Amino acid sequence: MQRSDGARPAVIPVGLAPLGFLNAYLVRGERTVVVDAGYPSGARRIVTALRRHGIDSGDVSLILLTHGHLDHLGGAAELRRRLHAPIALHRLDAAIAVSGRDRPLKPTGLAGRLFAPLAPRTAPAFQPDIIHDGELDLAAYGVAGRTIHTPGHTPGSISLLLDDCVLAGDLLAGGFLRRHAPGLPYFADDLAQLSESIERVSAVAKGPLYVGHRGPLPLEAVARRFPRMTP
Ligand SMILES: [Zn+2]
Repeated sequence: MQRSDGARPAVIPVGLAPLGFLNAYLVRGERTVVVDAGYPSGARRIVTALRRHGIDSGDVSLILLTHGHLDHLGGAAELRRRLHAPIALHRLDAAIAVSGRDRPLKPTGLAGRLFAPLAPRTAPAFQPDIIHDGELDLAAYGVAGRTIHTPGHTPGSISLLLDDCVLAGDLLAGGFLRRHAPGLPYFADDLAQLSESIERVSAVAKGPLYVGHRGPLPLEAVARRFPRMTP
């Protein structure tokens, strides 16, 4: 079992699809923050993972959604019902939660074009409890970390910065064949914004990037694949 050493939270990946093709995470500090919730079936798997790691459901202080795609927020309503923890989502992605309907997906390449027709387009609608602008200090939720706004994949995408790693949602994705090889996410609403966000996260990251699909991505590999344009 992974435990936090106090100041430094432990990151526990929860596989919601085989081979890391869809991930949620448990971030365990003094309390536990669940990052992302998968499709509706993800809630049950996350609750099982909490139990397996000896984390009481009452210890979960927050369900933090990295962005408003259905494969990340579809399970959030059910997870809140089971854990009684509030859901946090960026203001610019909140409409997707409230409607339960995804926006059109803009593929960045072949994988996106293949996946787009297969992706479910609806999920149980819900009202997020905490609608924010991207800057959340998780100290209030018992985890030493903070979020920053990293738009591009969606307008309301965020990344969670911890002492020694980043939970980056779909800012980047691991490769189909090489899971630790960083690449663009399968979809992006705004590629220019996405590049800026990748650069911003690269500048402050102190360790690997844990992402929604495949990964984790070593920081050196991200720097090689996406060299920074600004010093
Ligand atoms: Zn996404």
